[in-house]
Amino acid sequence: MSAESRRVEVYPGCEAVVEFDPDLTFECVEDCTWCCHHGVLLYDRDLIELAQRANLSETTTDFRGEKFVTRERKDRDTHVAEDGHACAFLREDGLCSLHLEDDWKPTRCSVFPLAVWLEEDGLHVDIRESAHDHCDGLNVSERTVVDNLEAFLPAVLWDLENPDSEREL
Ligand code: SF4
Ligand code: SF4
Repeated sequence: MSAESRRVEVYPGCEAVVEFDPDLTFECVEDCTWCCHHGVLLYDRDLIELAQRANLSETTTDFRGEKFVTRERKDRDTHVAEDGHACAFLREDGLCSLHLEDDWKPTRCSVFPLAVWLEEDGLHVDIRESAHDHCDGLNVSERTVVDNLEAFLPAVLWDLENPDSEREL
């Protein structure tokens, strides 16, 4: 734990070691969708939940022994990465079909723009390096991240052997 970090109880008995500036604020900017241009990692419990909502063979991809939501080529110019691809569930209007139709989304989608990883002293959390350059929602509102950690960190993260969010497609 570095000198600037602090322990915050997110749920009863579940603490996170917070590495980012406690003054940092965040509010997702509707038209951005940058974090949905990637294939998101699915933890085991996400996979079980997703299987109840979508056809896994059409919407998931295996990569280095783990499951990710598929990135697919979209037939449009908006809400896509430079290569024309985006998450299989990202609609043309920039909304997530899973979230919209089922009020559910994979754990990693809630965690963004944060990064999580496990150390001997517990679950650490910081802003993802790439979010500083691409996430439009940082420091545009009054909503401090440190006071709303439960919105970013689903409780399942404390049960995982390896919650490391750096694993990407
Ligand atoms: S599942 Fe939904 S929220 Fe997650 S990356 Fe895909 S479109 Fe975005
Ligand atoms: S990159 Fe940030 S602002 Fe953009 S959609 Fe994702 S969370 Fe919202």
